[in-house]
Amino acid sequence: MRDFSTKGCGIRMIVLFVNKQRKYDVQCVERMKIVCQKAMDVVASASFVDSALKVKSTCLSVTISFVGAEHMKKTNYEYRDINEITDVLSFPLLDMQNGKLLKPLGAQDILWHKDGIGEISLGDVLISLDKAKTQADDLGHSLEREVAFLAVHAALHLIGFDHIQSEDDKRMISEQKRMMKKLYPSETEKNAIIDLSGTDDHETSSVKHSGFAAIIGKPNVGKSTLLNQLAGYKLSIISGKPQTTRNNIRAVINRFDAQVIFVDTPGILKPKDGLSRFMADSSVRAVQFADVILFMIDGRFSTPSEADRKAIEIFSRYGKPVILVINKVDCVVKESILPIISVYSELYPFRAMIPVSAKSGDGLELLLDETISLLPSGPKYYPDIDFTDQSERSITSELIREQILHFTNQEVPHGTAVLVDRFEEIFSESNPEEREMVRVFASIVCEKKTHKAIILGKEGQMIKRIGTSARRSIEGMTGCKVFLDLHVKVRNDWKNLSSHLNELGYRKGD
Ligand code: GDP
Ligand code: MG
Repeated sequence: MRDFSTKGCGIRMIVLFVNKQRKYDVQCVERMKIVCQKAMDVVASASFVDSALKVKSTCLSVTISFVGAEHMKKTNYEYRDINEITDVLSFPLLDMQNGKLLKPLGAQDILWHKDGIGEISLGDVLISLDKAKTQADDLGHSLEREVAFLAVHAALHLIGFDHIQSEDDKRMISEQKRMMKKLYPSETEKNAIIDLSGTDDHETSSVKHSGFAAIIGKPNVGKSTLLNQLAGYKLSIISGKPQTTRNNIRAVINRFDAQVIFVDTPGILKPKDGLSRFMADSSVRAVQFADVILFMIDGRFSTPSEADRKAIEIFSRYGKPVILVINKVDCVVKESILPIISVYSELYPFRAMIPVSAKSGDGLELLLDETISLLPSGPKYYPDIDFTDQSERSITSELIREQILHFTNQEVPHGTAVLVDRFEEIFSESNPEEREMVRVFASIVCEKKTHKAIILGKEGQMIKRIGTSARRSIEGMTGCKVFLDLHVKVRNDWKNLSSHLNELGYRKGD
């Protein structure tokens, strides 16, 4: 019997359960029902739920089916074209976005029962207890905890939360965390995302030298290697193939009298399509924003290329101090550096010309000193503790991309982007400060079906290899166990679609 009576003035959530599998005993299923009901109640009572749904004498309803693995796989294939078992699927009935109705409720949306109670159905949810069980085991927590998570996730989907746009994604994740905290108040959440744009109340004291140093130069000269060396941490990804740094990545170095923020840029390129146009743009923006420019060249070549001249032309417009960084000197004899210095000093009045090896670290102390000396006095832009403004989440996607680049070749990698759909942290029950595990659900988006086939490899061998190596490097970053779930998707011509670029996190004005 379903109870549609409204108790108090809160929103009432009726959950109808359908058990379509036999593997789990009645007691277990009953426990899961309680967990799901609680999860649904928590979401339904959240302040973001449209007040139009809180109509007197009506209640909300959801149907949750516990299904077996095969059923889930079939449904996933039917509706999403993905021939795999998934943990949860939700099918919303109302047109909503972030908890708000996109159009007013119509007569068809409310089912009036004999006793005068109206039922507004939000939709259906399918949960695979098998998949939930595997995930719970992987994560070392209870099946209840996992099912609660899936139910909250599904409930948010039903009322229009989504993670297609990255802004919405952030919102969904944070609401999800909030809801889980209500269900499991003893679990502390650590916010891994170091958000520096906001109103952090970090010390804003002035220092003698403070500012931004943009590292620019042709692809492959060693910009990312330099940034990584300076930060002593693998922030930007490194590869032998050009164009691996897609966004401007920053590292902050603090000294007692200085704070310098190094910005790694994608390199000045000839715009061909939307993506390289954007990357070229973001280099120019980094130059505009910088206090000092580190112009990096490959010390193995003494003659400036067209691209080098173009870069000089761009930064000369801004009249900022520029240091010429002659990299890869570990590969050349000392005598070959002098001619480079004389050629380049003809091209621009560089404030310093410093031979370095970004790889070995030679010359970097001097480079850091010179950079700092050129910075004006000013506030500390970043709190002392921060080393990067890239969240673990975005570094994760770069680390996955790094492995795709490593294992595949030719045209595949550069038509590929990685979108982290979910990044969840699991904390130890005994010590809530200790992060036990991170689980990452990511999509690899490529341009062509043939690319997808390459990335998947024969019998999925390639994706397995990519996954294993990526997981290891993510573990290196997070310092805890990582569960990584990768999906490969095809989006034709995504490089030219600005909406796709937005979706994949390559946003302008960041
Ligand atoms: P970016 O495109 O400018 O960011 O270049 P990366 O930092 O990704 O480096 C491109 C390649 O050059 C990688 O294979 C690096 O290992 C290599 N590299 C970078 N710096 C040095 C260096 O100082 N010496 C040598 N020998 N190789 C370097
Ligand atoms: Mg790079």
